[in-house]
Amino acid sequence: PRKIVVIGGVAGGMSAATRLRRLDEKANIVVLERSGFVSYANCGLPYHLSETIEKRSLLILQNPVSLGERFNLDVRVRHEVVSIDRDAKTVTIYDRVWKVTYVEKYDFLVLSPGAAATMPQGPDSKWILAMRTVEDMDKAIAWLYPNPSSAIVLGGGFIGLEVAENLLKRGMSVTLINRGPQILKHLDPEMAVALTQRVRNSGVDLRVGRTVESFTRNSVTLDNGDVIEADVIFSAMGVQPEINLAVEAGLKIGANGGIWVDDHQRTSDPSIFAVGDAAEKIDAISGDERLATLAGLANRHGHSVANAIAGATTIPATPALGTSILSFDGMVAANVGWSEKSLRTAGRKMRIIHTHPSDHAAYYPGAQTMRLKLLVDPETDLILGAQGVGGNGVDKRIDVIATAMFAGVTASNLAQLELAYDPQHGSAKDPINMLGYVNRNIAEELTSVVEWHELETLRNDGALVVDVRTEGEHKYGHIPDSLNFPLDSLREHINELRGKNVIVYCQVGQRGHTSARLLAQEGIHVANLNGGYLTYKAGL
Ligand code: FAD
Repeated sequence: PRKIVVIGGVAGGMSAATRLRRLDEKANIVVLERSGFVSYANCGLPYHLSETIEKRSLLILQNPVSLGERFNLDVRVRHEVVSIDRDAKTVTIYDRVWKVTYVEKYDFLVLSPGAAATMPQGPDSKWILAMRTVEDMDKAIAWLYPNPSSAIVLGGGFIGLEVAENLLKRGMSVTLINRGPQILKHLDPEMAVALTQRVRNSGVDLRVGRTVESFTRNSVTLDNGDVIEADVIFSAMGVQPEINLAVEAGLKIGANGGIWVDDHQRTSDPSIFAVGDAAEKIDAISGDERLATLAGLANRHGHSVANAIAGATTIPATPALGTSILSFDGMVAANVGWSEKSLRTAGRKMRIIHTHPSDHAAYYPGAQTMRLKLLVDPETDLILGAQGVGGNGVDKRIDVIATAMFAGVTASNLAQLELAYDPQHGSAKDPINMLGYVNRNIAEELTSVVEWHELETLRNDGALVVDVRTEGEHKYGHIPDSLNFPLDSLREHINELRGKNVIVYCQVGQRGHTSARLLAQEGIHVANLNGGYLTYKAGL
């Protein structure tokens, strides 16, 4: 029988191994895992810090014995692969328990070694906690056992925010330090702002745009000279693909520092496959190489590798849309595809749609407002990306858009999707349908929009800004120096606006659109402020 050796026994590696067994009962499948655990739920680790996931055992989904019994896999924990000999088709393994080194042959090798946490370097590095493996979590729990009162978390990405949220739930005071100007940097700034406020309102001392100059066991010194003291320090500053084995074996490395693979996850050596955080992905929008450290992709690509090895199917591995979601203190931020800022950096044209819908019919109790942003290719009308921030229903909308993107549904055709509706779960015109309608209005030049960040320039060029909300709304807060002609009396002001370039705005863009249509039909050159006052204020 063929022998398949898998390096790394978690998301990608174990998906490959178990699928392979279902396809080939006779294969000899060996899984080698450096840590003491396989098939653990890394995504759940931060939630055990607060005992939201109460039992540690719930995070460890399988063990070598259960995997042996069910799948006849030869799973060896605390076995670290230290080198690959491609000519001999062998791996050299260090048994960390018995401290011996031995060699194992393979016909096919699957690399799923994941990514290594980026840790601050210095004489006190050993005091900094990470959150990647069960051992990392156990160490953190041990350090948290005496109930320390304060923590510093380095990094405002997914893991940093999840760790911070769970330390807060433990009753600790938390300082979160983020190098860039914005947490969750994959979001556009006006979308991230609500989450930033939620993080601050929850009590986190959030420092953005700050780097750590030096640190000790219990303090960090920032680049502005601030010294912050805390009982424990966590690092969640990012990850790097684990490529040492691949580099030493002479495998091709991709453009972003991950292991290069073809569209069946095959590396530059036909007997070796790579998946997960260590491997490059193909970006679903650009077709270029990219990294994407997401569990779904690791699992899916593990599945593809098993198919390829077993010769079961020739369907290529799915390209990466980068669909992701995070929740902090009840606020949800989700995204798929590219952001406005990444599209701008790449010099790509885009159509932008901002909406602020309710998750379900506003008249039914408990409706929550969300912010949605859709990015569309103006030439093909295909969706390039979307972001959602809010509470209930954000996940559903981003997943529908991710599905639409996968299937090649155009932005305008979102209006045609027939989605489940009753007042408790949606609207007869679901937020997804509304994105489609707004997109079509812009695409068909029924309305033109300006972005919050274009307003200042347009004003300097002489544009007149008109608030079409009620007087009460205007008084409560408005764009400086804007006129207030409420929509219901706008017809009375038409003559004052003739011959001018007019930008209308309302709270979210809907009354603005009606106003823009009204004025445009009167021959006035008019644009609607995309996303209205709410998006403008968020972007400031
Ligand atoms: P991993 O699952 O990390 O497994 C790699 C394994 O390989 C490790 O156990 C490692 O010990 C082992 N290994 C490495 N080198 C060797 C060697 N030389 N020999 C033997 N074994 C080796 N993704 C999401 O999509 N959603 C989430 O909510 C989410 N939350 C996360 C929360 C946390 C705290 C973490 C750490 C990750 C989270 N992720 C999330 C990311 C997701 O877990 C990873 O994308 C996924 O696990 C990658 O799978 P992988 O197989 O590439 O690597």
